[in-house]
Formats: sequence, structure tokens, C-alpha cells
Amino acid sequence: MTNTITPLAVFDDNYIWCIANTQQKKVAVVDPGDGLAVLDWLEASNYQLSAVMVTHHHYDHTGGIATLLERYPDIAVFGGSNSPCELINRPLIEGDTINVLEQTFSILHLPGHTLDHIAYYDANEQQLFCGDTLFLAGCGRVFEGTMEQMHLSLNKLMALPENTFAYPTHEYSLANLAFASAVEPENSDIKAAINKAQYQRQRGLITLPTQLTQEALINPFVRCHMPDVIMAAQQRVETKLHTQEQIFSTLREWKNNF
Ligand SMILES: [Zn+2]
Repeated sequence: MTNTITPLAVFDDNYIWCIANTQQKKVAVVDPGDGLAVLDWLEASNYQLSAVMVTHHHYDHTGGIATLLERYPDIAVFGGSNSPCELINRPLIEGDTINVLEQTFSILHLPGHTLDHIAYYDANEQQLFCGDTLFLAGCGRVFEGTMEQMHLSLNKLMALPENTFAYPTHEYSLANLAFASAVEPENSDIKAAINKAQYQRQRGLITLPTQLTQEALINPFVRCHMPDVIMAAQQRVETKLHTQEQIFSTLREWKNNF
């Protein structure tokens, strides 16, 4: 495989992931919130844009598409079939596969953060572009779907092979790890992840991608079955919680006010 993955940092904490085929000099971008940033990068790299991959309709993920279509009117714009984003011209549903720059991505529907949220998973390259569903040590807010849907969507991602590399859209790692540490103060994997992320951010480095093996150890939202997480959630609401979904829901509301 000759593709490289490069993050373009835009706005306060977004990344536009650029998948570049260095032989063909072609690029696909995931969630281009800022079109001019992509065009500048393409020009500097001497690459052509060949596709846009949208995870969900929020404007910080889609706001640059119109600018990109002015320059590249014929490109594929992939996204969820139920997306309100009207610039999507290749609507996708769960189980679809697409070929982009010699990579094959399977589509996972992940309702919760929004109802149109999808992820792009390449089993060969062990890559997962997961938008605002899974973050390093965190997950997206539940805006349009139900807590149950978001919990199921995270479980769907965690059922992928554990060596999968996840590429979220936001640099939220330090804030997420601070919350993870509040939930599980004794978790040494969380402490190690904080040290690593602090080192990276102090040097202006990106903390992503993350790997599902790491998330299984540090991310409270995918650890709703772990005794320490269950205990922390129950202490938070001073109630006995009976299902993983109740634990998830308690953690998500706790994080919203953290
Ligand atoms: Zn979003």
C-alpha cells in the first residue's frame, strides 16, 4: 500500500484526515470542515482531490465541501444515506463497501452523536475513520440519537479487531483523559496515556490515531462492564445501576457536566 495518512489541523481542535496515494498523486479527505485548508495542502503537495468521505452532517465536518466541489466538481462525496448534508452524491448504508484510492472501506452505521453518522473501516489496512463517535479516551455527545444507540454504536466499533487504528476528527485527548482519570483514579494505563498525551501536546504533536487495544484499557465509555467503572457511575448517581446502558448513560451525562 502506498497511501499515507496526514492530519490537517483546522479550527480549534479538528483534524481533516488526508488519505494520499503518493503514486497516483491523488487524495481523499475525511470530514473537510475547511475547504481552503485542503486546497492549500493539495497545491503545496502537488496532489489532486479524488473523493470526500463524510462521517456526519455537522458543519465543522462538511463546511468545506462546497469550496472543494467548485474546484473539483466531479468528485465523489460519500456520506450516510439519511444525511441532511445535500452535497453528498454517493449515499451509503451499513454494509456497503467503497473503493477509494485502492483501499476498500466497509461502512458502519453509528447512530448516536447524529442519526446519519457512519464510519469507514478498512480491514486490510486496519484503519477506522470514526468521526465524532469514538475519541481517544472518550466519545461524542449524544445529540440526535438515544443513549442506547450510542452505546451500541461504540460496541460495534469495539467488536472490530483490537489492532485497528482509529482516526477521530477531534483532538480532545487531554480533556477526555482527565475525565477518564476522574472515573478510574487508580487506572495505571490512563496515567500512562496522560503522560504521553501531555508530552505530545506540549510539543504541538497530534495524539492520534489511537488503537482499539488502548481504548479497551483507558476509555470509560467502552469500559461499562468493568467493576471500577460500574462503581464510579453508581457513586455518581448514588443509585444501583443494573445495565451497561445505564452505566454508559450515567458516564455520558457526567462528562457533559465535567
Ligand atoms: Zn459532530
